[in-house]
This record gives sequence, structure tokens and C-alpha cells, in this order.
Amino acid sequence: MSFSLVSGQLNNLWIGKFSIFPDDVFVHGISTRHGGVSQGALDSLNLGLHVNDKVENVKKNREKFFAGLGLKLNIGVSCQQVHGFGIAKVTKEQAGRGMYAYEDSIPGMDALITNERALPLMLYFADCTPIMLADPIKKVIGVAHGGWKGTVKSIGRKTVELIVKEYGCQPADILAGIGPAIGACCYEVGSEVAEQFQEAFPNFAQEILTKSTDEKFHLDLAKTNKLQLMEAGLAEEKIDVANVCTACNNRQFFSYRADGGRTGRIAAVLSIR
Ligand SMILES: [Zn+2]
Repeated sequence: MSFSLVSGQLNNLWIGKFSIFPDDVFVHGISTRHGGVSQGALDSLNLGLHVNDKVENVKKNREKFFAGLGLKLNIGVSCQQVHGFGIAKVTKEQAGRGMYAYEDSIPGMDALITNERALPLMLYFADCTPIMLADPIKKVIGVAHGGWKGTVKSIGRKTVELIVKEYGCQPADILAGIGPAIGACCYEVGSEVAEQFQEAFPNFAQEILTKSTDEKFHLDLAKTNKLQLMEAGLAEEKIDVANVCTACNNRQFFSYRADGGRTGRIAAVLSIR
């Protein structure tokens, strides 16, 4: 398993790809910050419509990234991502939601699932963990937004559980990709956050939290998401972890922390062919 940046079909476009997802069944990619038209702190492939960028710029950037994946932008679906743990089951009727206007995104949700072909799910990130799920047997997908709040509320595990309930998937069949996110190296949290993780994940709290100084802890979000997917029944050898820290690599990706809050958004896109 591996995560690597490959050159897209268009110039100056790089696409993050997990080797775990078979390309004949799924289309997927994680964007970088390069190759777009946005300027300043949003330089340049900002894909978020909620970060005070010009809508025209975001539209151009999204169209370019989708074109790089061989997809048309008007069939994608986004949700508003409110740092909660709501999961929406989406169908073709929602194709296009949130592609051209944030207000039109599916409200109140932080994860999307579907079994419809050619319905790309698209979520946005700047340090939070992209969680991508794909069952090649039942042909079902899900994408979740794992910030610390969603992660501590087990949005990844809940997304697996909903896929199992709604589509009859077997957890052991599900492939997962955990994308670039702020690493334990750069993600320091206070004891009030650390305590919530200790309470939520008693089985592996010691593996995800490292005490630093003054009641501060380094938290490993990607590992927390990997371990909760394993508790949901996924096999370790089917979870592809990028192991890329967005804060250490903020010249390649957008990082809320490393860029001081004013930054753009990368996206994770997943679709069934
Ligand atoms: Zn780092």
C-alpha cells in the first residue's frame, strides 16, 4: 500500500492517489495546493467555497481538478462540514449539490455515502483527516471529514457502520484511505481535548497521545482514525495511510495551523465508475 502524488492529465496538476483503491472500479484523488488560480493565502488550487475566495476562482479550480480525474464537476456532491458526525446517504437526485455554491451543499453533515455509480463525493480539508472508504464487492463508497471533533465522535467508525446497515457490506471487504492530515509532530492539544480522546478510545489512548510539556499532548488524528476503523472490523492490510503531515508540508497542501488560520482547502474525491 502507498500514497503518492501522480501528475494529472493536465499541466501543473498533482493528484494524491492510494494504491489500495482499484482504478478499474473507483475514481479517486486528493488534491494539492498547486495548479490553481486562487491568490494570496489561498494560492493556488483552493477548492473550498467557504474561505472567502472568489467563487469564480473556486469553480475554475474545481473544474480543473475534476477534469484531471476525468470527471465532470456538475455531478459531484458536497456537504457543509460542520465538525459534527452527521452522515448523509446520497443518490443521483443530489448530483451537483454544493459544487457551485456552499449554501447548496448538503447541510449539517460531515460524511457522505452512496452506492450510485458516477456520483463523486467531495469533501474539503486543511489539517483535518480525509477518510475514504470503498467496498469493491458491493460497490459502495463513503468519504468522511475527521477533524478532532468528528474523530473523537468516531465519524469513521459510524460511516462504516452505516455502510454496513444500508448496503449490507462486510467490514472485512472495505478498503480505506486515510489522507494527508496534521501529524502528531505538529498537532498539540490541551488536556481538555486529550481527556475526551482518552475517554472515547480506552483501548488505544496510549498509542495516539504523547504528553509534551505543561499539560499539553501531541495527538495523532490519522492513527486514531485508522485504529477506530480496525475496531469497526476493517483489516489493517486494507487501510492505506498517507502518513503525510499537512503542517510540515504546507507548501504542498493547505494547513490551517501552519498557515495561521487563513488558508485554502484541499479536497478528497471518490466515485464509483
Ligand atoms: Zn508535522
